[in-house]
This record gives sequence, C-alpha cells and structure tokens, in this order.
Amino acid sequence: MMNLSQRDQEIIWHPYTQMQTAAPPLPITRGEGALLYNESGHTYIDAISSWWVNLHGHCHPHITQKISEQLNRLDHVIFAGFTHEPAVKLAENLLEILPANQAKVFYSDNGSTAVEVALKMAMQYWQNQGQKKSKIIAFRDSYHGDTFGAMSVSSRSAFTQPFQEYLFEVLFIDVPVQGREEETIRQLKELAQQPDIAAFIFEPLVLGTAGMVMYEPEVLNSLLQICKGHSILSIADEVMTGFGRTGHNFACDYLTEQPDMVCLSKGLTGGVMALGVTTCSAEIFEAFLGTEPHKTFFHGHSYTANPIACTAGIASYELLVQPETQQNIQRIVAQHQQFARRLRENPLVKNIRQTGTILALEFNTGQTSYFNQIRNSLYNFALQHQVLLRPLGNIIYILPPYCITDEQLATVYGVIDKMSTLLQENAKAQI
Ligand SMILES: *Cc1c(COP(=O)(O)O)cnc(C)c1O
Repeated sequence: MMNLSQRDQEIIWHPYTQMQTAAPPLPITRGEGALLYNESGHTYIDAISSWWVNLHGHCHPHITQKISEQLNRLDHVIFAGFTHEPAVKLAENLLEILPANQAKVFYSDNGSTAVEVALKMAMQYWQNQGQKKSKIIAFRDSYHGDTFGAMSVSSRSAFTQPFQEYLFEVLFIDVPVQGREEETIRQLKELAQQPDIAAFIFEPLVLGTAGMVMYEPEVLNSLLQICKGHSILSIADEVMTGFGRTGHNFACDYLTEQPDMVCLSKGLTGGVMALGVTTCSAEIFEAFLGTEPHKTFFHGHSYTANPIACTAGIASYELLVQPETQQNIQRIVAQHQQFARRLRENPLVKNIRQTGTILALEFNTGQTSYFNQIRNSLYNFALQHQVLLRPLGNIIYILPPYCITDEQLATVYGVIDKMSTLLQENAKAQI
C-alpha cells in the first residue's frame, strides 16, 4: 500500500517545484485557525498564510457556514447576461472599502487573470479613444503573476527566461527603496515623455515575490502624480497587499493619490476559494461604452464571479471589518515591532523591515539569490520546529493569518532566533 505522499509522487506535478530533487510533499488532512494538521495529528503553524491567501485562519466557521448555505442555493451560473446576489453584494462590499474613485468591478478567478484584465483594459481604453498608447511601465523587481501578460510586466529572471522572446516590451524603473526615491522619480519622469505609454503597474508599498521589498507611500504618491500629469493610467496590484496585510485595508489607503485600477485576489475570499477582481474608475468604464461592437471588453472566464467564491468573499469581508479582526491586525503589528527591535541586536540578521503584519529579514549569508542553498535548510529547519515558513533565498518573512495567537507568534519568532544560532554554528564549523 502506498501512502498519500507516494501516490502523489506517482502522478502529480507541483507548482514551483523541481520534481527530481524535491522532498516528498507533506500530506495535510485538516486546518483550523493558524494550524495545519498532518495525518498523525502533528501541527504546523501557517506563518505564511498558505502562500499569502489565508486571512482569518483555516476553516473559519463563519466562512464555511456561508459557503455551505450558498452551495444548496446556487452553485454556479454563466455571468454574461445573468447575475446573482453574491456577485453584486461582494462588489458593493469591496467598493465600500476601496479607494473612492473605484466605480466598477470586473470578476475573474485568480491574481494573474486580475492583472491580465487590468492590462487589457488599460490598452483598450486608449485604443477605444483612437490613441496609440500601448506601452507599460513596471518596477524592475516586480511580480504580477505567471500568465504571459503578467509575466511580461514582471521581473525578467530565471522564472521568465524560457519565454523571453514571447513577452511584450515593458519599460522598467527601479523600485524606490530608501535612498533611491529620487532616482526612480527621475526614471519615471524621463519615460513619461514618451507619447505611447498606456499604464504604470505596481505592487504598492511591498513587492512580495521580490523578497518583501518595501518602499514608502510618499514616493508612490509622487510617481502617481507624474502618471496623472502625463495621461498614464495607474494599476495598483493589491493581490498580496490587500485586505489588511499592510495594517490598513489596502496599501493604497496610505496614499493621497488614487490609482485608476486595482487588482485583487489571494485574501479576497479569506483564502478559501479562487477568485480575482479588477476594479476601475468610472472614466475607464465609460471609454468602453458605445454602439460599436469593437468597443466592448471581450474578456471572460468560465468561472467568472462563481457564487460560492463570491460568498466566501462576502463572509471574509464581514470578518475583516469586525473590530476584533482590526484589533488582531494591530496586535500583530505591535508584536512584530517588538520582535524587530530584538532582531536589530542580532549581528547575523540584516535589513529588518516591516509594513503592517508583514515582517521580513535577511540572514547575513553573503548570497541573496532565490536559489541560495541556505533556503532549503531554513525551510526544513522551520518545518522540524512545526512552523511553515517559506524563505525566499536568505530572506525570511512572516505573513500570518490574523487569528494567529501571541503564543503562536512567539513560537514563530523563536524558530527564527534558533535559525540564526544554527547559521552561526554552521559558519563556525566551516572555519
Ligand atoms: C500572487 C500574486 C499574483 C498572482 O496571483 P495568482 O493568483 O497566484 O495568479 C499577482 N500579483 C501579486 C502582487 C501577487 O503577489
């Protein structure tokens, strides 16, 4: 008899995984709160919210209850020519908390498609008005997804190299990290002189996949002002930063300027169902109106606005706006701040940074590549200590569900402390 892990290895190909060298996958049978349980009842603290999606803990009773009620009412219905309560209600909820200029909600089913939709909307917006503007500006180290459009506007790296010749041309500017703000502003001002720029797409305040690289709201305000001054549309990719991660509902809440479009996914359903949303201003929407068929936005997915997924989104929203959740978010922010102060005294740790509930640090190992060997040791070390962390090279980050307890946070911090001791011992052993 093969166990689950062996049956998996016979037939399954996992994401972002070198299948020849990867360790057997860990079977998980149950989730509750911040904990994942394996077959023998051992637990892992999900310190990365299962790839940044989970907001309120696994199997939150409010979300599972709402979904199961919806399942008995309406499973799915075509969304062209038809509508349903969950789609409308979720859109109303989102517009309540999104930047005030956001007026229309377009559904898809993941973060990459939310980005594709935004890019296509931006390009067609100009075309519908008879203007030749089709180029996109993006941050050099950004990540916007794995489909071709999303890959095109993402960092060109080992991940995108095999597809390089099929990616469309994008103009890249540097991420305006501390001390580099003026240079990025200069780069954008220069590019903005070109008459054919359709849009600027960015991860607001935190670039997730780049390694939780952070920058300040002030410089983003300046970049957005430049865009406005040169008729360049702006697209905030809040797929990772949305729904409280940064300490506010959206990273854009730190800004005084508003983006023309916002992409949402991941935390949108509390991490329970696949769903994507692209919102836009009334001005963008209106450019698609007319009697000519070619002005229509011809884009859609079979599972667009799936009622079960939308219901999960509504239930997650209801939890998010509860005072208790908002208090939990601020509690995590404060706990992280304390831990960060302690870390600053550790000579093996550098570049400690925090935006809201996201805390990141780097171990002093010389190398910073994603493929850094240290990555696997740190990953396995955390698992052995019953914590799920997924280092990006020598960068460790915590991005927890908001229900994580202080005690669980202390365990996660403790594992990171132990990691640095482990590295110190390794370094000594090599001398
Ligand atoms: C994860 C992510 C995406 C892609 O979302 P998927 O649902 O994985 O396709 C896009 N943008 C950002 C900022 C992300 O973090």
